Amino acid sequence: MKNYDVIFIGSGHACWHGALLLKTMGKSVALIERDLVGGTCTNYGCDAKILLDSPFELKEALDRYQGIGVTGESKLD
Ligand SMILES: Cc1cc2nc3c(=O)[nH]c(=O)nc-3n(C[C@H](O)[C@H](O)[C@H](O)COP(=O)(O)OP(=O)(O)OC[C@H]3O[C@@H](n4cnc5c(N)ncnc54)[C@H](O)[C@@H]3O)c2cc1C
Repeated sequence: MKNYDVIFIGSGHACWHGALLLKTMGKSVALIERDLVGGTCTNYGCDAKILLDSPFELKEALDRYQGIGVTGESKLD
């Protein structure tokens, strides 16, 4: 059986920050993940939210500038 200096259960941001730091210090690190590697932020949270929010933020910005530099209807599909 292989031995590690540190084993993380869960591979979210908390793990990444710890694991990367430990690796730069020369430690051996293992991750145990039951779902998708990267955790909530990468797979379900922040990044997904940004992807879904961005078009609406763009539309809002375009609507704000109607008549002062932007003309025509901004539409999301
Ligand atoms: C919709 C949404 C939007 C968000 N937007 C932002 C944002 O814009 N900015 C921001 O800073 N934060 C945001 N967050 C919060 C951010 O996602 C969390 O703060 C961050 O993911 C926490 O990291 P973590 O490593 O503690 O936990 P997580 O990323 O949740 O990682 C935990 C991991 O452990 C695994 N796990 C759990 N139990 C076990 C087990 N027994 N065995 C093996 N694996 C296990 C899970 O599958 C998971 O992958 C958002 C969260 C959500 C839900």
